[in-house]
Amino acid sequence: MSKNKLASSVQSLQSSAIRELLKHSKMPGVISLGGGIPNPDLFDHEGLQIAADAVLSRHFGEAFQYGLSEGYPELRSAIGQICAERGIACQADDVVITSGSQQSLDILARALINPGDTVVVESPTYLAALQVFSLAQANLESVGTDGEGMKVDELEALVSRKTIKAVYIVPTFGNPGGVTLSENRRKQLVELSKRYDFVIIEDDPYSEINYTSDVFRPLMAHAKAIGNEENVVYTSTFSKILAPGTRVGWLVVPEWLKRAVVNLKQTTDLHTSTLSQLMTFEYLQTGRLAGQIALIRDAYRQKYQTFATELENELGDVLTFHKPKGGMFLWAKFNNGLNTTEWLAKTLANGVVFVPGEFFYCSNPDHSTLRMSFVTATDEQLKEAVRRLKISL
Ligand code: PMP
Repeated sequence: MSKNKLASSVQSLQSSAIRELLKHSKMPGVISLGGGIPNPDLFDHEGLQIAADAVLSRHFGEAFQYGLSEGYPELRSAIGQICAERGIACQADDVVITSGSQQSLDILARALINPGDTVVVESPTYLAALQVFSLAQANLESVGTDGEGMKVDELEALVSRKTIKAVYIVPTFGNPGGVTLSENRRKQLVELSKRYDFVIIEDDPYSEINYTSDVFRPLMAHAKAIGNEENVVYTSTFSKILAPGTRVGWLVVPEWLKRAVVNLKQTTDLHTSTLSQLMTFEYLQTGRLAGQIALIRDAYRQKYQTFATELENELGDVLTFHKPKGGMFLWAKFNNGLNTTEWLAKTLANGVVFVPGEFFYCSNPDHSTLRMSFVTATDEQLKEAVRRLKISL
């Protein structure tokens, strides 16, 4: 009854299926390939301790005080530097600090989307972005992906027949697909955005977790090269390279969007926790981030290799997957049409969980797909997980 009192936009909002699944993954003896969480054994205890001590001794007053909605100025500068290293030339002034990329997406949805506006996403795409855009009452449409990421030709066919407001994309080591948009398609995409004047929301949590020596320039850098920087918004985060519990991410926004984004940030939570921002800033001052990223990258790459080899050997005849070049996820498809949502009950009984692929689609889900995260399990657990998947067939 009282559900009627809820705003209509909220009535269909559901708890993320992944969060529900994570409950099972906590059961004793269950090996979880489900959660998209970083490996906590790799958190830099010593570095975070140094940062915490520095915050308490050097910034005691301001760390516990209100701050600016745009974020702590020195942290904005330091993030500007990180962006420059990724190929995005920006000033501290273009950076707005958020409480993680999830909040960046929420703010952008509220800044950009009128009910009914079309937002195009990859198929499959990040589940929590689907939730954000649905809540903003966007009309969601999807474009397929292959080993080179979003099929930009399909997008072109779509934008040539209807007006769209934005494309949301995770171009590098995507979640859930693990795919990376090729250099050619990056150029094509920013050119399309220029020609048809739509916004690109570039979500980049994973690009530092690169298993290869290839360099993937952000869409924002490609856009600048052709004078289309006004149409690209970039978000990234410390969640996967430092620690998600700090809840510190950021946006790089073009001038026309800045005031709206800062005002929305203000109405949401005034500003990101000053304590977290200062911890992050002091951590960056230690100079340990590059080493930390290298450690995470090497550990994840090695786990990926163990897992992929095992999967190929044991399930290669029924399961197909693109090899990710980085990130945290392996996306696979059963070529015998197995419904992974139904199958999950069986694998859970055998002590292993994953996320069925159907949750990552805004329409026409492929029920024979699944997402597996390999970064928190040990090598032995990864091998055992594959064995348990196999006996569940
Ligand atoms: N975007 C993508 C593609 C993600 O995978 C995640 C984390 N799972 C986020 C955004 C949210 O990250 P944050 O912790 O910075 O809010």
